[in-house]
Amino acid sequence: MFHNKAALAIAGSDPSGGAGIQADIKTFTTLGVYAGAVITCLTAQNSRGVAEWQPLNPDFFKKQLNLVINDLPISHIKIGMVGSSELSFIITEELAGFRGEIVYDPVITASDGHSLCEPGGIEAVKQVCGTATVLTPNLDELQALSGMRIDSHQKLLSAVYQLFNQFPRLRLILAKGGHINQKCSTVRDYLFKRRETDPLIAEHPRIKTGNSHGTGCTLASAFTAFHLLGNNDELSFCQAGDYVRLLLERSKACKLGKGTGPLVHVTYVSAP
Ligand code: PLP
Repeated sequence: MFHNKAALAIAGSDPSGGAGIQADIKTFTTLGVYAGAVITCLTAQNSRGVAEWQPLNPDFFKKQLNLVINDLPISHIKIGMVGSSELSFIITEELAGFRGEIVYDPVITASDGHSLCEPGGIEAVKQVCGTATVLTPNLDELQALSGMRIDSHQKLLSAVYQLFNQFPRLRLILAKGGHINQKCSTVRDYLFKRRETDPLIAEHPRIKTGNSHGTGCTLASAFTAFHLLGNNDELSFCQAGDYVRLLLERSKACKLGKGTGPLVHVTYVSAP
């Protein structure tokens, strides 16, 4: 059954197709959710890394966003790379009256280390955090937003509750703990709810693969899609983790690009 509801991705474009708004659209589409897509920034990158990026003209960005949110039946918005403080300001202004879920993946740096926000841009990222209902930081993003160094489960808890205090609209924090201990054979994702002390933990085997570009964007979009389809927070969290794991397994054998390959969003494989 197709839902007459749409998800909107607001994110940067990755022309290599692995991350950014391309990953969001592929995730929504493969999970059966209609995808609108408003681009914040253009990046020039391939599997070897990001060479350069530039934000869109703010007035033009605002026009895209305004036209789409006042037309499509959007119940869920997923935000990724924002890039500049001007665009952050427009997002907070335009989404002030939006009553659905706003899932924000607070992208700060690409996996090759290239910064994906302007110098001093952490304040712009924090501004968008103030409008979000769900935040999906990885460990580096959690450290940058909380100003805390996280090297234990206890520190993770302190950082998360510090963010709940900083951003009163946040209902949930989905913390991607995959990088706490790189040597561990499993990875953990955590779902924290405001006012609940114990997170729901999803543990997955660590999958050895050269094709991991776009996993962060995909996890956040998958949570958004499963939630839009009517699943509750806990189920959407577990389903999103399983979806990423399935794609990581399926992408293992692919050889796309000369560097870190992308997650391949193929859920249906026809016979040759
Ligand atoms: N958004 C854009 C436009 C990007 O280029 C990147 C990484 O290069 C990301 C988001 C973050 O990607 P990931 O899902 O691998 O964290």
